[in-house]
Amino acid sequence: MNEYVMNYIIEEQLGEYYQSYVDTQKKDVFVKGINKINTIINKFLEEFDAWCGVGPEFAYWTCDSKIDYSFATPNIGTQYFMENLANIAPDIKCDPFLISLLHELGHHETGHMFEEVEDLLFRKRKESMAVKLTTASEEEARDLHFKYFNMPDEYEATMWAVNYMRNNTEKVAKLWAELQPAIQEFYKNNEVEVA
Ligand SMILES: [Zn+2]
Repeated sequence: MNEYVMNYIIEEQLGEYYQSYVDTQKKDVFVKGINKINTIINKFLEEFDAWCGVGPEFAYWTCDSKIDYSFATPNIGTQYFMENLANIAPDIKCDPFLISLLHELGHHETGHMFEEVEDLLFRKRKESMAVKLTTASEEEARDLHFKYFNMPDEYEATMWAVNYMRNNTEKVAKLWAELQPAIQEFYKNNEVEVA
């Protein structure tokens, strides 16, 4: 993908936030950092026939096999996600960014397990959970998060990630050894949280 297209995609994805970077003339540093991270992740994703870009949150887009990764500040949702991970796979210890990325890849790899009608049902349930979340107490919110993580498609995606990490320790270590410094450099150069 050429740089022009990549920059366009970044601009589309980050909208106003990106615009503030254009305004502060930090665009080049920003784009350079993102491009570096994209290159590392895309190289890793090649064998899976998936690709990535930065987005407002971690996500997987079935329609074009695209994974969005995010620099959003870890929130209570991330905390619950890591707690859930510790429950189902206590042997897996890693950065939330890495497991989130592999979880989205897990959606790409396990999507075939579900019928279209099941996907629809999952989406409906998730939507209703999101609505409930807006008025939920702390305890209810925690419960909703854990219910979400244990929806069949979410559970399978996480278990795919867990098993991938268990069975490909060297590959994962190599990926993280490249990715972590690139992410840290991005944070350092941009002094921001992309949320
Ligand atoms: Zn998911």
